[in-house]
Amino acid sequence: MKVIRPPDRMISVSRKLTHQGKTIGVVPTMGALHEGHRSLIQASVRQNDLTILTVFVNPLQFGPSEDFSRYPRPFRKDCRIAKELGVDFIFAPHAQQLYPKGFQTVVEVTALSKRWEGLSRPGHFRGVTTVVSLLFQCTQPTRAYFGQKDYQQALVIQRLVQDMRWPIKVSILPTIREADGLAMSSRNVYLKSNQRQQAASIYTALRTALERIRMGERNAAVLTDSVRRMLLENADLRIDYVALVDAKTLEPVWKLHGRVAILVAVWVGKTRLIDNLLVDVP
Ligand code: AMP
Repeated sequence: MKVIRPPDRMISVSRKLTHQGKTIGVVPTMGALHEGHRSLIQASVRQNDLTILTVFVNPLQFGPSEDFSRYPRPFRKDCRIAKELGVDFIFAPHAQQLYPKGFQTVVEVTALSKRWEGLSRPGHFRGVTTVVSLLFQCTQPTRAYFGQKDYQQALVIQRLVQDMRWPIKVSILPTIREADGLAMSSRNVYLKSNQRQQAASIYTALRTALERIRMGERNAAVLTDSVRRMLLENADLRIDYVALVDAKTLEPVWKLHGRVAILVAVWVGKTRLIDNLLVDVP
């Protein structure tokens, strides 16, 4: 396994591989690898001739008061994990290499980026779509892998790839969870033990809503209300949003039908966590 830093070097390597007819799987991450990342990497290694893992904590997608500087960066450990899983290249550019002096281009997906994460984190998706466009340009993926955990992000990327007509297959893989249901996240390390316990209620509340839908509840307001009430039983938990939305457009639904996503974003102390479940409503 090779670690590549300069974007130009990554471009020449990926071009060469493409010319040799190899399929390239790309897994974009910010590092601090956990089981969620592992499952994406494993899928890529299975489905492609070569896998490129990108590790880049992208300053463009963090707001001024967010956790950019304290975001975990255990690069040596990440390299060990990647090697063990069969990754061929880690592309880990420095920020000055990816955004050299004079850089002034942004890539934006409009409507899908507006609500939910877009409202709570202004500029976040513009940062994501800009860096993913650059990472794709450097790595030339045949397939790219994203997690359902960041559902809106995955839809935004799918839209980007479709709109730009890039010949890349975007796969969205299921959320990997801890034993108590908490979605794995590099940010979970921020949680103190009492907060960690309370964070598990996110999944409990989502599952309860899912059960109520299966039992016949179709009223979105009733369901969001019950999710909110369950979350608010936790003293350290503040709700950012709870929403039932159309799984394609992310527009809110009032009466449930078709494929619906239940979206949750909360603050547990100073840590912001998101999660979601998809449900097909007959
Ligand atoms: P991140 O390093 O947090 O930017 O995540 C990199 C990729 O891993 C994104 O596509 C995430 O959606 C995905 N991912 C993060 N957590 C999980 C999880 N628990 N299960 C599945 N995929 C995940």
